Amino acid sequence: MYMGTIITVKAYGKNADKAADKVFKRISELEEILTVNDTGSEIDDLNDMAGIVEVKLSSDSLYVLNKAKEYAELSEGAFDVTIGPLVKAWNIGTDNPRVPLKDEIDELLKLVDFRDLKIDNANHTAYLARRGQMVDLGGIAKGYAGDEAIKVLKENGIESALVNLGGNVVVLGSKPDGNLWTVGIQNPREAAGKYLGTISVRDKAVVSSGDYERYFMKDGVRYHHILDPRTGYPADSGLISTTIIADSAIDADALSTSVFVLGLENGMKLVESLDGVEAVFVTEDKKVYVTEGLKDIFIFYQEDSKDFTYVEER
Ligand code: AMP
Ligand code: MG
Repeated sequence: MYMGTIITVKAYGKNADKAADKVFKRISELEEILTVNDTGSEIDDLNDMAGIVEVKLSSDSLYVLNKAKEYAELSEGAFDVTIGPLVKAWNIGTDNPRVPLKDEIDELLKLVDFRDLKIDNANHTAYLARRGQMVDLGGIAKGYAGDEAIKVLKENGIESALVNLGGNVVVLGSKPDGNLWTVGIQNPREAAGKYLGTISVRDKAVVSSGDYERYFMKDGVRYHHILDPRTGYPADSGLISTTIIADSAIDADALSTSVFVLGLENGMKLVESLDGVEAVFVTEDKKVYVTEGLKDIFIFYQEDSKDFTYVEER
């Protein structure tokens, strides 16, 4: 268990076992830096010093924070890593989640604004402008870990590998037999490992966000872990899962969370505006949509996904 999830590394070729060990070492190192679950991580320092003073950061933290700001701007705030105070209030994915009072949510919402995250790249520091503000990298850190895993594998001479970080998949090269890697897209209303369909790729990251990953039910309502920074409540955009296919996992991770909040129409618009990025969207009325570039690559499993409809024409 690393980063709150199960991680598997399938690496092939000479040195594969040694390379995989190094991947796990690198991922646990990243976890120590980026987590907000342990005290003493760099990101904890950043949060503890909010409104007080800037903190010195490693190039790993700086890189992730810069990417986070880039996607906050690109998504016009749908993706916002200063969502921390609200993530903490809801506590979704822990043993004691709760529905905060509306007043509490409105109060905490005032603390959410990515513009208050000031990054000084020249001096390797960052600063949160106001007391009580908190960064939470849950929507992007696993993506970075995926990219770093591939980097470690390459440095160790591996040319064929698949890394799975709790359903966020990154593949290196093609399969050892030369065929493309086949990656399943989780059916958001079935058990883990039941797929809506598959895509076949090489050298890509395939990252999903969904209301099925972390959630709790109360009075028949599903409260999931992707919060809308405009409302402070779980995003209610009409989507139940989004998957992004991109060259890098950090981009795919930030984008999958972004488009989940943006919804089908705006999310589709955003993805179609980006080069080399494709997506699968699943709506709450159980329709499946893909971007133009996936039409020949996505294979829908109608047999296993009877109540879902694949909408090929828009
Ligand atoms: P993901 O599974 O990558 O979509 O990320 C979801 C996680 O990102 C949540 O568990 C929170 O830690 C964090 N998060 C929730 N809402 C947002 C948001 N609107 N922007 C950025 N991070 C978020
Ligand atoms: Mg994400």
